Amino acid sequence: MADISNAWDEARNVIKELDIKRLPINPFEVASNLNIILEPYSIFECYTPNIIKKLRDKKCEAITSKDIGTGEYHVLFDDVSIRADRLNFTIAHEIGHIRLGHCEKFYNNYTCLEDFIHKNYSEEKDADNFAAELLRSPFLLILIGAKNFYDIQDICDVSYKASLVGERQIRTILPAYNIPRYVSVFKFYIDQFSDFIHERYCENCGYKFIGKTIKTCIMCGSESIPYHINKGYIQTLEYHKRTTMVNTKTS
Ligand SMILES: [Zn+2]
Ligand SMILES: [Zn+2]
Repeated sequence: MADISNAWDEARNVIKELDIKRLPINPFEVASNLNIILEPYSIFECYTPNIIKKLRDKKCEAITSKDIGTGEYHVLFDDVSIRADRLNFTIAHEIGHIRLGHCEKFYNNYTCLEDFIHKNYSEEKDADNFAAELLRSPFLLILIGAKNFYDIQDICDVSYKASLVGERQIRTILPAYNIPRYVSVFKFYIDQFSDFIHERYCENCGYKFIGKTIKTCIMCGSESIPYHINKGYIQTLEYHKRTTMVNTKTS
């Protein structure tokens, strides 16, 4: 069975390790900072046309392998036929395979990892969960007040499909936001993304809204519009933390 919490935890480990503090998270930068070597099909095509053709024919968007000689991880990815927002998720998915130890579990020198794990649903699911938490954590999105796919797409640079799944996750998490497992995750994002979370509101009229591409306040036209944050949930969480601490002391 797919271990969702393990994949989620590992995504947050990467965020912590690389000290990422803002959205959108660029998986190409993440890969580079983790010393993962990214190799686009278009460049590899001249050296190994047959392999790339085979991958394209199989509609394989990316493959990950480990060089047992150097210990380096290589991600070969389709840079031509995948849209940029989808490619972000694909690269994050491959980083997930690496971080969750799937290469060690399945690799065979330069054998196509995807060939192995296509049959292993749980590894695919785990890599997806890792990518989702890394690029568009529903917990962080709740903290910045993003609730629908439009906001998620805009803020996180992920595809419409990935954003829709995110919207559904937010709706599941919101009513249960105060269960202890979630509270600790919220706490992580409040600490790690503190500056980001507290940005973005209209300094002139106080109107709050989300929009990466918007240059002026849509209410008053002011140009001083650092990012908005819905502080409601943070206050609720702080309150929950205090009451939990009090309860722990008295029990
Ligand atoms: Zn995969
Ligand atoms: Zn305004």
